[in-house]
Formats: sequence, C-alpha cells, structure tokens
Amino acid sequence: MTRLSDLPIRDDLRGLTPYGAPQKHVRYALNVNENTHPIPEPVARDIVESLAHAVLTANRYPDREFTELRESLAGYLGHGLTSDHVWAANGSNEIIQQLLQAFGGPGRSVLGFPPSYSMHPIIAAGTGSRWIPAERDADYRISPETAVRAIEQHRPDLVFLCAPNNPTGTALPLETIAAAYDATDGIVFVDEAYAEFMPKDQPSALTLLPGRERLVVSRTMSKAFAFAGVRLGYLAADPAVADALRLVRLPYHLSALTQAAAVAALAHAPEMLAMVDDIAAQRDRMVAELPALGYRPWPSQANFVLFDGVADPRATFEALLARDILIRDVGIPNALRVTAGTAEETDFFLECLAALGPGGAQ
Ligand SMILES: *Cc1c(COP(=O)(O)O)cnc(C)c1O
Repeated sequence: MTRLSDLPIRDDLRGLTPYGAPQKHVRYALNVNENTHPIPEPVARDIVESLAHAVLTANRYPDREFTELRESLAGYLGHGLTSDHVWAANGSNEIIQQLLQAFGGPGRSVLGFPPSYSMHPIIAAGTGSRWIPAERDADYRISPETAVRAIEQHRPDLVFLCAPNNPTGTALPLETIAAAYDATDGIVFVDEAYAEFMPKDQPSALTLLPGRERLVVSRTMSKAFAFAGVRLGYLAADPAVADALRLVRLPYHLSALTQAAAVAALAHAPEMLAMVDDIAAQRDRMVAELPALGYRPWPSQANFVLFDGVADPRATFEALLARDILIRDVGIPNALRVTAGTAEETDFFLECLAALGPGGAQ
C-alpha cells in the first residue's frame, strides 16, 4: 500500500496532520459546538419546499453571485449592511480559505493568537501562508497593547482574531480589534462564529466596519443557526473584499440547493435562533456548577465551556465516552471543552462528571 510520504506531495505539507475531531455515533455529541436542537419541523418543511423548487432548475448552473442569499444575509446582519458588503461560501472555513488565497499565500504571513480555532493554522498551511503564533495575556485575553506589540514585531499580511474565542470562550474587546487595525496595513479578520451567543449588550465587530476597508468579519450558520450540515459561512466587509474573493473562488461554488436552503432558513431566523438563549443558559449553568465538582471553568460568551483541573484529560474523555458522551480534548494541559446543549444533556454530563470524582477519571 502506498503511504502519503511516498507521494510527490508539496514539501510544506509533509508531516502535517489533518483536522480530525472524532466523528462518533454517540447519544451526547458535545464535541464540535453544533446546535444540539433539531430544526423546527415547520421550518424544515419550508426548506424542503424551496429545495424541491430549486431541483427543478438544477440542470442550469446556480446564480454565481448568489444575489438573493446575499440580500437575505445582509438583512439578517443589519448594521446598515447591504448585499454588496456580504460574501458567502461553503462554511466559514471556505471563507477563510478564499481570504488566504487572495490575501495570503506563498511569501505571505498570518498572525494568530493560540489557543484559537484549530482550522486557522491548517488553512494557512493549505494555502502556503506562513503561520505566526503570538502570545495572549493571562486568562486568554488579548489587550490592545498585546495585539499591537505582536503586529509591530512580526509585520504580518493578515491578523486573525476570534471573538468570542474558540476553544476558550473568551470575549475580545472592540478596542483590541481597532488597535490591531491601526497597527497594520494588512487584513484584520475577526471570526465571529459564535456571535449570536454573546451577551446582548456586547457589540459585534460589525460595528467597526464603516471606514475600515481592510476589516473582515465572518459568521456562520453552523452554530447558533443549527445549520452545520448545510455548510454556509459568510463575511461582511467593504465591497472591494468580495471583488478580491471573486478572483479566487471557483465559479458556482455555492450550489443551487445550498442557496435555496439558506435563503429559506434565513426567512425563519427567529425560529432557527429560538434556542440560543436556552443554550446560553446551559452554558452559564455549567460555568456555575463545575467549580463544586472541583473544576475551573473559564467565563464563556460562546456555546461551549473550557474547564481545567482535569487530572488526566485523556482518561476523563474516555470515561465520558464510555457513558456515550463525546466532548473535546483541545490539547490544553489539564483542560477539556464541552458544548452547551439541552438541559437534559447538561444534566447527564454534570452527573457523569460528578460520578468520576474530583479531577475526573485518573
Ligand atoms: C465552528 C467554527 C467555525 C465554523 O466553520 P463552518 O465552516 O462555518 O462550519 C468557524 N470558526 C470558528 C472559530 C468555529 O469554531
């Protein structure tokens, strides 16, 4: 059998590991921050009707400019944004890939602040962009000074921020984003995959867009919107950014079915987002209850909680898996991450963790 290392693969891809969050069939899948609530049936029926309609003309290529979808997304985002400011792709992962194809690539660099979204460096590698990891402050925060210092030291072509941050849940002050923007001539990218879970009074980086043509804010329908299986991510930025991405996207990259499904779901945004407050309440419950079990949770503005005080993360992960609960080992020593789901999922998770005793399975 041929091994990967026997193939004439690019030198810079040799020895790399692919993204590989385990996909296991378990009763409690709390490992990739999906919305664990199913799509409401009346909405699902509407989506199917739109799909049925789209299938009838699937002999033709889809609208390359996905105009109706961009209008729907702009309407959903608000903040005075129009369809010209919006671009979409098959998940925000593809948004990031297109961004790096256009603004990164060989000879160019991306600065990030790990621990953060594991796909940022992987997509950087895939596009031949040099990844530069910079330090965070205590408790995973990034102050304006810390961001500016790293940017002045490394002079990257792109700066990647994540607000709230995955896997830590940490908020990112707008001051840090604004200071980063002023410190670079490059692109400042803010990944807001979890924006809908932020406290209502926490402003989005969308508010910073006017007058900042190098600022890009991405969102996804995968998390709050309960649409991970459809693959729809999008960004808001100056219209010129979409022009840059038109140079690198594959023609017709968004299928007619994806466009139809997303437009139909966006027409039901309030129903699709109905569970967000419940999920945030389960997150807050885990943060409140984990200390009594001997763990230290970090404050989270997303739909997951990172907690440390785990004696042996691998053993705790396996012990929970034996009880049909899948959570995530994100590689932070003595820590694990769990997705906030339904009240019943939280009950069972906390119950099982308590049964393992202080520090978890040893
Ligand atoms: C889950 C996640 C995404 C989502 O990616 P999609 O490709 O839209 O499913 C993007 N960014 C972060 C930080 C995430 O955690």
